[in-house]
Amino acid sequence: MSQKTLKGEKLYEGKAKILFQGTEPGTIVQHFKDDATAFNAQKKGTITGKGIINNKITEFVMINLERIGIPTHFIDRLNDREQLVREVEIIPLEVIVRNIVAGTMAKRLGLEEGRRLDRPLIEFSLKDDDLGDPLLAEEHILSLDLADDEELSEIFDMTHQINDFLRGMFAGVGIELVDFKLEYGRLYDEDDAGYVLILADEFSPDNCRLWDLKTGEKLDKDRFRRDLGGEVEAYEEVARRLGISLETEE
Ligand code: 5GP
Repeated sequence: MSQKTLKGEKLYEGKAKILFQGTEPGTIVQHFKDDATAFNAQKKGTITGKGIINNKITEFVMINLERIGIPTHFIDRLNDREQLVREVEIIPLEVIVRNIVAGTMAKRLGLEEGRRLDRPLIEFSLKDDDLGDPLLAEEHILSLDLADDEELSEIFDMTHQINDFLRGMFAGVGIELVDFKLEYGRLYDEDDAGYVLILADEFSPDNCRLWDLKTGEKLDKDRFRRDLGGEVEAYEEVARRLGISLETEE
């Protein structure tokens, strides 16, 4: 595939991605960087090749979610590090799904990592780095009008469907989907008369926890957070098991 790089002005640079205006109205080019941050950017580093892997894993996950009827912002992968997506109004919530206790949930509640939850848990936090993405109750979301009742109920439905599908997909390649973070956006009609909620952002080992089903080995960003080493090898292993080609065009 030739390297397509048609894009407009830079709109935003985040911790792991850069967003550019797309050449068609209503589109954005999402560029995946090798930069890695953890603990609200207190720890910073580079994982060489991570951006390429995350671009391709995100493409794979979004295409498969579309196949089961989840609307997503994904349009097309443009090259190794970039994908074309629909421009949406991001709902400022991090939607976190947990199947197994880990990370901040273990810390906050004094629980052992690895405890299987009786049923999947959906948590919300405010997407605000300066505040450290604080946990929110549904009542906060409604009272502050971050999303309305109808949107919340759609977010719950879609998130459960995504979790059911992805747990099965990863289990099929010997990986436990422990937890992950999603973001949703409002995609407006051309005349701004209405909108639909769609899945936005990315899905990669940067925003989920993946444990090898047999050995428990971590195959996600916890390798970086906890100084375990072998980050890129772990991300590559996830791609390999999913059958994603990492042959680069760079
Ligand atoms: P925890 O709350 O345990 O830190 O994270 C739960 C899950 O959501 C993990 O899979 C983690 O990678 C993901 N997650 C939570 N907050 C963020 C965030 O600000 N950025 C990214 N990329 N992932 C997050």
